[in-house]
Amino acid sequence: NRRIVLAARPHGEPKPEHFRLEEGRTPAPQPGEVLLRTRWLSLDPYMRGRMSAAKSYAKPVEIGEVMVGQTVSEVVASENPAFAEGDLVLANAGWQEFAVSDGSGLRRLDPADGAPSQFLGILGMPGMTAYTGLLEIGRPQPKETVVVAAAAGPVGSLVGQIARIKGARAVGIAGGAEKCAYLTETLGFDAAVDHRANDFPDALARACPDGIDVYFENVGGAVFDAVLPLLNDFARVPVCGLVAGYNLSELPSGPDRSPVLMRAILTKRLTLRGFIVWDFAAMQDDFLRDVGGWLRAGRVKAREDVVEGLENAPAAFAGMLKGANFGKLVVKVA
Ligand code: NDP
Repeated sequence: NRRIVLAARPHGEPKPEHFRLEEGRTPAPQPGEVLLRTRWLSLDPYMRGRMSAAKSYAKPVEIGEVMVGQTVSEVVASENPAFAEGDLVLANAGWQEFAVSDGSGLRRLDPADGAPSQFLGILGMPGMTAYTGLLEIGRPQPKETVVVAAAAGPVGSLVGQIARIKGARAVGIAGGAEKCAYLTETLGFDAAVDHRANDFPDALARACPDGIDVYFENVGGAVFDAVLPLLNDFARVPVCGLVAGYNLSELPSGPDRSPVLMRAILTKRLTLRGFIVWDFAAMQDDFLRDVGGWLRAGRVKAREDVVEGLENAPAAFAGMLKGANFGKLVVKVA
């Protein structure tokens, strides 16, 4: 059983020395347990938070522990009557090839509902994040302008596509010309803006001639600075993620700009609301019905970035935090 454990807590970018690949014996299931073999491992930005000891909404991974992560796993031996050999399940097996589980928290997957890896992306946690944050907090109305950053990733790409289904204008922000072309040409976004371009704030303003009514916040930093002056009165900002800052170990230097932000919140009567996807767990059935239906009907699309082999997970994960991925990042483990 090969597994990747947290070797040290990073300050700044995760590097190879923060992870350690270990080999151990494959565990044997006890009565009531199943043995799971990881097929697909999801790599997600939140894992950077788990590598840090800073207080957050979930407890950190301890040094020497297996890195956490959602997986699509196959039941390869079962001592639990609820699961049979060959069942495909959504699990939290982490960055390893095999795991045992007592069955709690496992969800059996029906291959008829989608390709297995899609349950880690558009039909899974990131898809649900886009659906719930946009519809419950963003509440886009027809003809409104919805802006989303990290727009070529699993969360952002679905935010823009749902915004269009709801009749809004979707403007995506992504890094580089290739991702921007994908947004407008393949996903049907109304406009795409490259946040790495020198004239990014002006280009964003040109792409949003009527201002911004919903800004789905995935990144923070310089992108948020460009968005803030364009927000319309009563704009809604679902605060989903701040990936531009996940590798920061201290506050960036410069003047305190919180008075500018607070003044904008007051004068424009903005709603900024943070959320964690499981706050909306009650919407899971609606999500699967709507997004599953749109996916089967071809109304929404999803792109995957597949990395082969567990040993390549650390570098792929570190790259994702800088935009090296193009689509939902998944590791094909077996
Ligand atoms: P992505 O696959 O989109 O990966 C993150 C992307 O962020 C990168 O590909 C990169 O895209 C972009 N990025 C990184 N640094 C910067 C920067 N400095 N400025 C602008 N863009 C940057 O990830 P996900 O779709 O899985 O997640 C998107 C966000 O949603 C993350 O912030 C994540 O933490 C959050 N999230 C929150 C959840 C919740 O419950 N609140 C649940 C799931 C995700 P590019 O090349 O375009 O720059």
